[in-house]
Amino acid sequence: MQEKGTISIHTENIFPIIKKFLYSDNEIFLRELVSNAVDATQKIKRLSSLGQYQGELGDLQVEVSFDEEKKTITISDKGIGMTADEIKKYINQIAFSGATEFVEKFKEAKDANELIGKFGLGFYSAFMVADKVEINSLSYQEGAQPARWICDGSTEFEISDGSRTERGTDITLFVNAESEEFLSKFKLQEILDKYCKFLPVPIKFGTKTESEPDGEDEEGKPKYTSVEVDNIINNPNPIWTKAPSELKDEDYLEFYKELYPFGEDPLFWIHLNVDYPFNLTGVLYFPKVKNDFDFQRNKIKLFSRQVFITDEVKDIVPEFLMLLHGVIDSPDIPLNVSRSFLQADSNVKKINNYITKKVADKLSELYKKDRKAYEEKWQDIGLFVKYGFVSDEKFYEKAKDFTLLTNTKNEHFTLEEYKEKVKPLQTDKNDTIVYLYTPDAAKQDAFIQSANKKDYDVLLMNSPIDNHFISHLEQKLEKTTLKRVDSDVADKLIVKDDAPAHVLTEEQTTKVKTIFESTISKPNMKVEIESLSPEELPVHITQDEFMRRMKDMAKMGGGMSFYGSLPDNYKVAVNGNHPLISRIVSATDDQEQQKLAKQAFDLALLSQGLLTGSDLTDFVKRSVELI
Ligand code: ADP
Ligand code: MG
Repeated sequence: MQEKGTISIHTENIFPIIKKFLYSDNEIFLRELVSNAVDATQKIKRLSSLGQYQGELGDLQVEVSFDEEKKTITISDKGIGMTADEIKKYINQIAFSGATEFVEKFKEAKDANELIGKFGLGFYSAFMVADKVEINSLSYQEGAQPARWICDGSTEFEISDGSRTERGTDITLFVNAESEEFLSKFKLQEILDKYCKFLPVPIKFGTKTESEPDGEDEEGKPKYTSVEVDNIINNPNPIWTKAPSELKDEDYLEFYKELYPFGEDPLFWIHLNVDYPFNLTGVLYFPKVKNDFDFQRNKIKLFSRQVFITDEVKDIVPEFLMLLHGVIDSPDIPLNVSRSFLQADSNVKKINNYITKKVADKLSELYKKDRKAYEEKWQDIGLFVKYGFVSDEKFYEKAKDFTLLTNTKNEHFTLEEYKEKVKPLQTDKNDTIVYLYTPDAAKQDAFIQSANKKDYDVLLMNSPIDNHFISHLEQKLEKTTLKRVDSDVADKLIVKDDAPAHVLTEEQTTKVKTIFESTISKPNMKVEIESLSPEELPVHITQDEFMRRMKDMAKMGGGMSFYGSLPDNYKVAVNGNHPLISRIVSATDDQEQQKLAKQAFDLALLSQGLLTGSDLTDFVKRSVELI
């Protein structure tokens, strides 16, 4: 039998279009052909289990091989196969049923994925890398004849009797000149690893390698025998396809290593498993978060029935969970459509909500089950929780019960607990509770000590998200404000009515102010005389909470460029009640006054790590003289 015909397509010639517009993603040809082979294999298994196929199933591997000399890549399966009529029906007609539409749309399409899936061009993606494609197939049906189909990339095809003796299909690509890079073990292995690593049928990747010469050819040159070296390159039963009850912790850890061979063990994981109202399985891992965020993002792999699709899961996974690792598998996510469509898709929204809820439930469970263990992991988990807290209202509703605040003594409190703890001492005269915090306990030690002396508690807010977290806390908590511990002197951080009286007269106050102003003479340092407890330091340098926050926001690109352009402004708070200040006032010699003022000021700078360069050198010299 031999027959020639024309692929039924109303449009001119589709192949140049396929080649031209799909070129960028051309490696997906392998994904398409291997998953067709897997589909055919799954079908014969199903027919067999339904009793509709009585023959031996045999060894059901899919095999990928290539021949560098002949410039071919072959994908073979032992699936259901196709008769000549089926090839005509499934390959010639069905595949192109959407062709007219395809040609109209190709102009708008951004990538190959979009077109391949949407228009059922899976098989034809072979022509992105091949001049000629050959199908050799034998159907599982009793009495079926083997069939061969050849197409050279025009709309002409040729179909004839085939030679295959075993059930199944070989697809052979005659690789075109521009695509010879695919005729490499390394390249093919890489693509298979990327797309086919978890396909449900064993995939054997064979290459012919030359062994020792074992004879001579007609011209007397040494003759090499090719040896097949095969490996099963995939794991057909990845854990996300199994029931959580079948799995132990080791299984999850082992799978994590399989996904990220060089990764540190994750903190914990969540097994996703839902089949209504959408179908989704997967395992999400919480990694130990490193500072290098970008490096850790985009580590979630998206699959559709175990075929890898992408690691761009931006719309499916909520933004605040983009640092998670793992896999998601869902046949319900429209994979082949554009980003804007994805964002509007209602399944995608539901999936997003589902993941948020699962993560919140898991965290809540960990918190309730073993608070101590949860606290130990808080440093790592906290980042996710706070990120979700500030960015996702639904998550916040749950997270408010397991969000922890940590103080400088490394004690952890829930929001409710903390409020009860600090309320009695840290409520100001307007009934506002003031939470104090520090971004750097070592650097602000002097301020922390002053606060602790008054029995105030100081929170540690040193994670990269804390600036946002602080302003969200203020929005969420009633009558509560947060102040950085260096935003004012301890006595004034929480304003109560009982300010200690001034020991200086009005005249003396003006004098001290003048002395300090002339000593410091820095435009961004504003001197103020405060009446603090005599035990406090003689001078404090503070930075206004509001101004500092505005500047921090501007730095992070919060659109407050006006504040960003301002210099750092400080308040030099001179403790009028300190004995040293009285000494300065009563000193008779101008120079002596200046020297003492300068020394007190430098000590304040020093305690905050602000004294550097020649100022520091001068300070040391002066200190030696004073001793
Ligand atoms: P899809 O896989 O989305 O149906 P394809 O273009 O990839 O679209 O394949 C078209 C059809 O060709 C398949 O539905 C199947 O019927 C048939 N087919 C392709 N490859 C094989 C194969 N290896 N074995 C059996 N049938 C196949
Ligand atoms: Mg297909």
